[in-house]
Amino acid sequence: MSLIVQKFGGTSVASVGHIEAVADKVARFRGEGHDIVVVLSAMAGETNRLVALAHEIMEQPTPREMDVLLSTGEQVSVSLLCMALERRGCGARSFTGGQVRILTDESHTRARIREVDSTRLHAQLEQGNVVVVAGFQGVTENGCITTLGRGGSDTTAVALAAALEADECQIYTDVKGVYTTDPRMVDGARLLRHITFEEMLELASLGARVLQIRAVEFAGKYKVPLRVLSTFEEGPGTLITLEEEEMETPAIAGVAFERDEAKLTVKGVPDVPGVAYKVIGAVSEQGIEVDVIVQNAAAEGSNDITFTVKRGDAERTRQILEQVMPSVSAQSVELDTKIAKVSLVGVGMRSHAGIASRMFKALAGENINIQIITTSEIKISVVIEEKYLELAVRALHGAFELEKHQSGEAET
Ligand code: ADP
Ligand code: ASP
Ligand code: MG
Repeated sequence: MSLIVQKFGGTSVASVGHIEAVADKVARFRGEGHDIVVVLSAMAGETNRLVALAHEIMEQPTPREMDVLLSTGEQVSVSLLCMALERRGCGARSFTGGQVRILTDESHTRARIREVDSTRLHAQLEQGNVVVVAGFQGVTENGCITTLGRGGSDTTAVALAAALEADECQIYTDVKGVYTTDPRMVDGARLLRHITFEEMLELASLGARVLQIRAVEFAGKYKVPLRVLSTFEEGPGTLITLEEEEMETPAIAGVAFERDEAKLTVKGVPDVPGVAYKVIGAVSEQGIEVDVIVQNAAAEGSNDITFTVKRGDAERTRQILEQVMPSVSAQSVELDTKIAKVSLVGVGMRSHAGIASRMFKALAGENINIQIITTSEIKISVVIEEKYLELAVRALHGAFELEKHQSGEAET
């Protein structure tokens, strides 16, 4: 008999009707003899609703209280699913993250899981019950409720699968699996039968929100068999695999994009040691995550330093830069919130030449200006004007013929 962890996202539990449908699905798996641990998100829109309530009271809500608030969303969906399962004669027990004892660090609103106690889960499974765990939350050593960052239920599922040594961790969502790009943006996006952990990690960190980054990291580290599939349609979905298992890897796995960024430029700083540290250091010290950073080649002894941050941090970053301006003798600080980042990802880049030039050609063909370029071993990212985002994603998807069936891919 196999043990499966199944996670259902917000749109999969959006209403009582949806929860009933999930209960049918879970009860069917249980009926086939599998041991099942279910992880649920809050009902669609609920976490956003709670965030908005907090912001009505204060601009920067107290992180500890924010976690107490946000964790309630998942508590609603797990209890309702257990009722629906019980009504079907399928024994089920719900647990919050704290009740399981999913131990995290103390970083409220973006806590990391340290340890999962599987005792209670095993005891329930032994009694023949389906265990339903509230995703996205844990508890600190001191008993404070924490949450794992947006999309964190994916990470709960993978962490439980690792702790229980589950046969598979299945992430059920509102699309059929992982596609070559967001299928909501490009009609021709192709469902991938498998993708490597490395590629999935890049896609997730470059904006494809289908899996939370930490979930992929965790799955890679603990070798959890991870599959993304649809709640609403039957199908094999996408298996996240180790690279070695791939027969032949296409050069490009997919295109990811991120709208939610802003670009800041500190102009005319002197070309001397320590300036980049003063600028970027001041921003990082305030807990703001800096993404792409570029410094242009010095012209007449002065440089421009440009970097991107999350759009929500843009204004605060600008204020910090204005404060450090005099100490680095900068001429000005500029903020541009109308940018987007588009990235090509593929482990095959290591062995295929000319990917970058093909990418730049496709963008040039659409007359899209590239503001920043960054590369790493398996990805190339460009920052462009936001209004061209959709055009850029479609152009790249087309230029690399991602809609086409490729070697190593089964027909879907
Ligand atoms: P859930 O609520 O189930 O966790 P999410 O909204 O977090 O669902 O993630 C699923 C969404 O991710 C899809 O609806 C899709 O729009 C988006 N997405 C972005 N990039 C991709 C991709 N490459 N493959 C599949 N889905 C993607
Ligand atoms: N409910 C949380 C969110 O909306 C966690 C999750 O759904 O994974 O981010
Ligand atoms: Mg999600």
